[in-house]
This record gives sequence, structure tokens and C-alpha cells, in this order.
Amino acid sequence: MEIININSARWHTQLKNSVTNFSDFVQYFENSSKNRTIYDDTARYDHIEGSSNLLDSIKLYLQNKAMEKVIVENRKIEKVFVKNREMERVIERYPMRITPYYLSLIKSVGDPIWKQAVPDIAELYESKDESVQPVIVADPLHEERQSPVPSIIHRYPDRVIFLVSNQCAMYCRHCMRKRKVGLQIQQKLSSKFCRFKLCSNEEYKKEESENIEDYGKSDLIDLGLEYIRKTKEIRDVILSGGDPLLLNTEKIDRILFALRKIDHVETIRIHTRVVCTLPFRITDNLVSVLEKYHPLYINIHFNHPSEITDESASACDLLSSAGVPLGCQTVLLEGVNDNPETMITLMRKLIKIRVKPYYLHHPDMVEGTAHFRPSLDTGLDIMRSMRGSLTGIAIPQYMVDLPGGYGKVPVLLNYIKQRDSEKAVVENYQGKICEYRF
Ligand code: SF4
Repeated sequence: MEIININSARWHTQLKNSVTNFSDFVQYFENSSKNRTIYDDTARYDHIEGSSNLLDSIKLYLQNKAMEKVIVENRKIEKVFVKNREMERVIERYPMRITPYYLSLIKSVGDPIWKQAVPDIAELYESKDESVQPVIVADPLHEERQSPVPSIIHRYPDRVIFLVSNQCAMYCRHCMRKRKVGLQIQQKLSSKFCRFKLCSNEEYKKEESENIEDYGKSDLIDLGLEYIRKTKEIRDVILSGGDPLLLNTEKIDRILFALRKIDHVETIRIHTRVVCTLPFRITDNLVSVLEKYHPLYINIHFNHPSEITDESASACDLLSSAGVPLGCQTVLLEGVNDNPETMITLMRKLIKIRVKPYYLHHPDMVEGTAHFRPSLDTGLDIMRSMRGSLTGIAIPQYMVDLPGGYGKVPVLLNYIKQRDSEKAVVENYQGKICEYRF
């Protein structure tokens, strides 16, 4: 069987001579890859030439193809890394998707990158120890009950989570929305909006000819926008999912445009993990769209220092340079980052790439993730170790999200050992006690 290396100069020359628009490209690619193996040795497409829109679409398409290959060939991954038939059982319940890029960060079976990406039979256990674990359920935060329309979670009066996609570049094994991501719950939404499931030429053309006003009344995005429009107390909208940046750039543009037309929406935030799992998605074209809609904030999700690479740093740089403030929501995960050394290294690396550590989440009591839950004391010890070892801007807030939809609260270390009306007895980061008079 012939192998096509999509990074080879020969293939690019053929491509350049045959393709002037995206539809041509899809046709060319499908024809030329029939009965051949597509080989992508770097998952980078920087040197393909073309107009920026065409280039963007081609890069995404190729990345998608490479992803599909990894998904389809999960048996191969299994063979390469470990003989584990149980993986199939897990995938039947919780989908698996790993980008070639993220896969390349794995150094050995069971390392912190592997643990976040590769299914584990423990996901099918209700808890790691039922006698001591609290009840673990699919939706402990009662998001479904706080959902006035299917694409909105409205917990706090002034802000909403707007679920615009249920697709992610990678399905993190510790995901708190494991019950939803990658599944068919929002099938209509994802097939309509997500080019990553791409897409016959017909569908593509139809999609391209739509605009935001054409979304049917029953469409989930439209319902979400309508809810935000009529709920005047909403000041802050968080685009989430799934991963909003897996939508195609034009759709992201339309959603942001529609939100910016709503007077009472002051800030827009995007929660995404593509910077970490598919950094090539942060293209010049995408950034040129995002920067039209300031004040726009992006919260990303790094959990381990090995995830900060030249590629993810470049993606962050593109966003920061366009004036998008970047924060990081790290999840404390057993076997991944549940020790001071790893966490301190991660926080140092984050501020070096202009990402402010925002939250350190204690993992929620979500079904299929019990094996990732460390104790609260582990988290507090890590927080204690950060104070004194890290500059203040590198220290995130340690948070728990209360079951039942009662919201997030910070978990604080108690530095004040005693106090009365005149003084407090305070412990410093070294454990030394000192008196502080008011
Ligand atoms: S990217 Fe976010 S939403 Fe998607 S699987 Fe990972 S944690 Fe869940």
C-alpha cells in the first residue's frame, strides 16, 4: 500500500498545483488518499502555502484526519503501549480521542500524560473505596437541573455557561462533563456546528451559506442566545462545552458577534483545552476573529509541566499578543500532579508563558473519575508549599465545587492561629509564629 506523507515537499507541490479553494482541496485529498495510508510525521502543517483562510481550513482538515486515524486505530495504541482488552469496555461508555500531538507527549505507559488521555478500567468503578468515598454520580453539580434551556447552565445570577459544542480535541479521562462530551446528546448541535466531524462537500457548502439568523428556533445555539438576550441580569457569558474552539472559525465569529450585540453582556470568557491538546488550532485567522470581541478572556487547562511545550507556548503567545488575558484552571489529579514539586514547576512555567494560574480545582465527585480524587489534605499541603516558593501571581485559588449546584468555594489555609480584639497570632509560610497587632 502506498504511503502519502502529508508533510512531504512532493505532496505539497501537487497540492499547490491542484487546489485553489477548500472544496477542491477536500476532493483532491479524498481522491489522492483512496486506498493509501496517510502518514503524518509531525502533525504540523506550517509550510503549506495558500491564503490564510484556505490554509486554516486545510490545517484543520488535516489535523482532523490525523485525529480520526488515531481514534480509528486505538487498537494500535493499545498494542504499542499496553495489552489491555479492558480499554474497549471503557470506550463503549466514555469515548476516547487523543490528538497525535498530545499522544507524542507520552513518555511511558502510565505517566501523567497517559493517565489524562488513555482509558482506564477504573473509570467503570463507582468509587475507589466505597466505604470512605462520598457518593459519586454523573452530574454531582446538578448542571442539568440548573439548565433553563439545553445549552445554558445558569447557577449564579450574573453569569451563565453557554454550551456550544460537545466535541473536544481530546476526551480527558478526568472530565467533569464526562456524561456529555463526545456523546450524541447534542448531536444536532455538533453536526451542524462542528467541522471536525467534517463533512461532505454538500454539508460544507450548506453550512457556509448559513448565517446566525438562520439557525432554527429549535437549534440549541439559538435557544441559548435567546435566553441570554432576554435575561437582563446576565453580564458574563462563558462559552464552554466540550470545547468551543473546535467549532469552525466562522461559527465562533457568528456566536461572538451575536453575543456582542446584547447590551447587558459585558464580558465573554472561553473555556478551552485546545491550547494544551491541539495548539495548532490557535491560528492567525482564529486570533483575528477573537480580538474583535474584547473584553474577551480565555481560560485554558494545563495540568502538568510536560504539557507546556514550544507549541503550546506559541499558541499562548498568539493569544496574549492579541490582548486576550489567559488564565489556567488546573485540576488536582491523583497520579498526575498531586505533589508540590510538580505543581510548583507547572505554576512557574505558566507565568513564563503569560498564563495566570487562576483555579486549582479539587476534582468533583463525577462518575468515572473516582480514581483521580486525592484527599483535601493533599491539596492543602500543595497550597502551603506554594506560599513561600512561588511569587503571588503564580498561586492559584484552591476551589471545591459543592455538590447539588451550591457553587464554588475557595478552600483556604488557616494562617491565623488565634485572635482577639487587639491582636492575632499568625503562622508564616515556614511555620514560624508571630504576633500581629491591629
Ligand atoms: S477538554 Fe474539557 S470538556 Fe473536553 S474532555 Fe477535556 S476536560 Fe472535558
